[in-house]
Amino acid sequence: MKRWLKKIGEKITGSKPEEEVKEKNKTTTKDTDKIEVIETIQKDHNTDHNLTVVGADKKNSISSTKLKEKKYKATWFHKLGDNFKKTSSNIKKAMFASKISQEALDHLEEAFLMSDLGVSFTNELLTDLKTKRIENGKLGNVVKQFLQDQFLENNNEFKFKKTSKPQIILFFGVNGSGKTTTLAKLASRALDEGLRTKIIAADTFRAAAVEQLLEWGKKLELDVFTGFHNEDPSSVIFKGHKEAIENKTEVLLIDTAGRLHNKIELMDELKKIVRTIQKNDPSGPHEKILILDSTIGQNTYSQIESFKSSIGITGVIMTKLDSSAKGGSLIGISKKYKLPIYFIGVGEKVEDLINFNIEDFIDALIGNNFGDRNESIH
Ligand code: GDP
Ligand code: MG
Repeated sequence: MKRWLKKIGEKITGSKPEEEVKEKNKTTTKDTDKIEVIETIQKDHNTDHNLTVVGADKKNSISSTKLKEKKYKATWFHKLGDNFKKTSSNIKKAMFASKISQEALDHLEEAFLMSDLGVSFTNELLTDLKTKRIENGKLGNVVKQFLQDQFLENNNEFKFKKTSKPQIILFFGVNGSGKTTTLAKLASRALDEGLRTKIIAADTFRAAAVEQLLEWGKKLELDVFTGFHNEDPSSVIFKGHKEAIENKTEVLLIDTAGRLHNKIELMDELKKIVRTIQKNDPSGPHEKILILDSTIGQNTYSQIESFKSSIGITGVIMTKLDSSAKGGSLIGISKKYKLPIYFIGVGEKVEDLINFNIEDFIDALIGNNFGDRNESIH
């Protein structure tokens, strides 16, 4: 039985001229969106700095790279939800208090705890602040520097690798953390890079999970390899991987069922998945990505510890930062576990995946919204 589900006929017959037109149209629409997003941000932040030029200059030449950079930054702040903004504006208020009083420090402590920075980092920060002589008005700079120092120079950049065998990217995490959605977002990026991309739906226990991936397959126009209901996920992965090698797939993304990190049999199943992948390619899986839901906070560290000691983690993606105030734990993830943070998820659409960048993240966390940095678009 052929189980690579061809979602769209043209993948079999080759691309058609009208598809190329559609592709071009897609680009045009995206460009317009970029301008609209930037205009919206400009309005949102009610700032009169040079972003105004972008809207006025629509027809003039803004280098597309610059525009892309700006769109990325604008999108990042634009997508943050009210919860995040509330916490970060509390941090900002406390930092820009005219005098560094106990009250200001208390506000700062509360806001950082809300942001999930964690008790020990928050205490370290406050101790650091109390032992320093800080000029009034300079608290913000000191806090920013402290946070920046916490991040190790991990390489947070995610790269698709072109190899003779598929690059295998395994997604895992607890239920509902955003594995399937994030996998689809990453698949879309691989397609944008022109890579032959396939997905294996190894969450065989829930019919809805396979359905969800098939929907994404349809949307992204790529193949999804599925198993039978309740089939051993390792068996599905073995067969899908073998076919992917034969088909010269370049990027193979594997979705797995949600598992509680403290359930031994579920963690053993994950180990078996890794062993199975290694039967077809001893060097795989090349990426083992833990998906963390930022709205949950709390047990982030225990999740990391369990998955790390079970199969290892090569990188982390934190999702739902559009609806959470809790991004602070990313600092601990970087420092304590020395793990790259590849992306953050800020929504449910394919484009809602942001490359993680330390400075931008800290700026967001402490309420330095886009516009405050007074950057030039030119
Ligand atoms: P899984 O069980 O880990 O595969 O999680 P799903 O990918 O099915 O996601 C669970 C829910 O979270 C779905 O409704 C997704 O649309 C939603 N979701 C995933 N990532 C994000 C995100 O970054 N932001 C928001 N707001 N929702 C997300
Ligand atoms: Mg899923």
